[in-house]
Amino acid sequence: MQHYHYVFTGSGLSALMTVYEIIMSANFQDKSILLIDENSKKSNDRTWCFWDKSNIFNEIISKKWKTTFFTNDIFIKELEIQPFQYKMIRGLDFYNFIFEKISKHTNITFLNEKVLSFEDLGNQCVIKTNQQEFTANIVFNSIFNPKIVISQNKYPLLQQHFIGWYIKSKEPVFNSNCATFMDFSVAQKGNTRFMYVLPTSKTEALLEYTLFSKDLLPKEEYEEELVKYIQKLGITEYEIVEKEQGSIPMTCYKFWEHNTKNSINIGSAGGWTKASTGFTFKNVTKKSKALVTFLQNENDLTKFHKKDKFWIYDLLFIDVLFKNNALGSKVFSSLFKKGNPVLIFRFLDEETSFLEDLKIIWKCPKIPFINALLNRIL
Ligand SMILES: Cc1cc2nc3c(=O)[nH]c(=O)nc-3n(C[C@H](O)[C@H](O)[C@H](O)COP(=O)(O)OP(=O)(O)OC[C@H]3O[C@@H](n4cnc5c(N)ncnc54)[C@H](O)[C@@H]3O)c2cc1C
Repeated sequence: MQHYHYVFTGSGLSALMTVYEIIMSANFQDKSILLIDENSKKSNDRTWCFWDKSNIFNEIISKKWKTTFFTNDIFIKELEIQPFQYKMIRGLDFYNFIFEKISKHTNITFLNEKVLSFEDLGNQCVIKTNQQEFTANIVFNSIFNPKIVISQNKYPLLQQHFIGWYIKSKEPVFNSNCATFMDFSVAQKGNTRFMYVLPTSKTEALLEYTLFSKDLLPKEEYEEELVKYIQKLGITEYEIVEKEQGSIPMTCYKFWEHNTKNSINIGSAGGWTKASTGFTFKNVTKKSKALVTFLQNENDLTKFHKKDKFWIYDLLFIDVLFKNNALGSKVFSSLFKKGNPVLIFRFLDEETSFLEDLKIIWKCPKIPFINALLNRIL
């Protein structure tokens, strides 16, 4: 049985980002690393958007917006987000970028196989794929198992689920300098439903019909809403260039309780998805960096996770939306109508002080959040 220092079960965003940090730190050249994924990571399976003020991954940013809009059926608000910019990275560009770096390191190997299981035996971990077995000092797992969340009800599970169409229109209807962060003018139908509009030129944009809710919709319903929205934009002729879809877990479930001394859950499987928004990319950049620093000083992976005040805010938000799913538009509208968007982004990045948190929280509808807090306390 072949032995590695580190085995990554699943090699998507969080695994590749952690390996990137490992490469950048240059302190792991003596470590043998195996990345396993059932997918060869050679297709553009997703597009990441995130707000950022650094130069991270500048080489592969496919589009940046200095201005964003928040819209509902009553108002349109232009959000002044500087020093942030809203940025887009195509999944395939990211995978190629990291694999190109990996190709220069002979201690890192990629294996295109399906992982069946892994187990921490105390002194080492055993990993089984559909074809072979390995042992490792440490397993980094990013294979998300929804069953562990669904099988409990202490921490409700919402999903950010969507279908996105990258379209090319005949008419020049888009303002390529402006992304629509959230457009709640779509019919809410008792849920939290909105559209992302991410234009890359006057005639090209990625449109994503998105819900924060418990249950997925039939595929046709997302597509009907996309068609309606495209008509509303005044587009008469268009071509769908690319499609993507996703269902991102939004939950405060304590994924990290499944970590052991020698194995750690990372990415969405480790609770690295921001529960209240489904945004993951930015969190992964931060957590992977922190994890690689941690690895250099510690050897018990159960000590990596630290719970903080933002976990509690997210918990209440998910409780509120789980109980009354139609409230999302009202909550986000209250925040963005008068709130400072830079402060809101910093709050969502979990970088605000308690006083700043209060400024944000104060803008939200009070009764549902107080009820959610009382329910948790009692
Ligand atoms: C279409 C889409 C768009 C998104 N857009 C955004 C966005 O704009 N901004 C944002 O912040 N977040 C976004 N997300 C959410 C989040 O950033 C991504 O889901 C991100 O890829 C999560 O990283 P991860 O490492 O947890 O999981 P993944 O990147 O999904 O990696 C998990 C890997 O495990 C592999 N795998 C699964 N099962 C097995 C198995 N049994 N054996 C071997 N390999 C296995 C998969 O093939 C995959 O490569 C999006 C998600 C999707 C799906």
